[in-house]
Amino acid sequence: MNRPLVIGNWKMNLDYVEAVHLIQQIGVIVRNRPLEHVDLVVAPPFVDIRSVTSVVESERIALEVGAQHASVHDAGAHTGEVSVPMLQRLNVKWILVGHSERRAHYAMTDEVVAQTLRTVTRQGVHAVLCVGEELAVRNDEGHLDFVSAQLHAALEGLDEKSRPLVSVAYEPVWAIGTGLTASTEQVRDMTEHIRTVLASLSLEATRVLYGGSVNAENAASLMSEGRVDGFLVGGASLKAESFLAIGQAADDCYAGKR
Ligand code: PEP
Repeated sequence: MNRPLVIGNWKMNLDYVEAVHLIQQIGVIVRNRPLEHVDLVVAPPFVDIRSVTSVVESERIALEVGAQHASVHDAGAHTGEVSVPMLQRLNVKWILVGHSERRAHYAMTDEVVAQTLRTVTRQGVHAVLCVGEELAVRNDEGHLDFVSAQLHAALEGLDEKSRPLVSVAYEPVWAIGTGLTASTEQVRDMTEHIRTVLASLSLEATRVLYGGSVNAENAASLMSEGRVDGFLVGGASLKAESFLAIGQAADDCYAGKR
């Protein structure tokens, strides 16, 4: 089992004042109950990153800051976009690549996902590649092939230096923000499949996370029975207690307490 990674995706929630409030609450809990075995990351909206990073650094909170997206380009005439070098200057260490909401609503094709992943890892930043099928694909039993195709499109031919910087988050689109969690069997079958595909791409050490309505109640069983290396958490990451309860479940599983 890899050391767990738990990432909070705040999506387009919380202005910078609210974001500072949340990170301070997270800091208090983490100080009282440190997570010894978990890499913890929060991914706030772009405009909150500087404020959140300042609090993390000044209060020495044991987590790293991520971003939810980055431009495929490093600089230039790309109105509204934010580049990887800009995020690096803000001490961003992790970037989500190809979240299903970016793919579905902002025309992020497999090709752009692959290029963005390379833009991120070329700069030495960790990329969290998001993959996952729509409900119709699963109902037609096409989910394994669909996810294989996404993995191949994004990761084939990735250079050796970039490989340790990649994690994969399996996020079935039908489970994101819906309260419908994939069953532990569905998660286990898919994570096993993803690990086989990753091994064929010389990425056997890659962490495989699950995302989709993870909460404090289901995290432990998803971790132990679903055999994931951590979580990408949306809604439940907006409250310090529920986010850190998920982190604690991952910590306990890794330490063999569950
Ligand atoms: C997500 O958007 O990455 C996600 C997993 O959201 P939620 O936990 O709210 O389903």
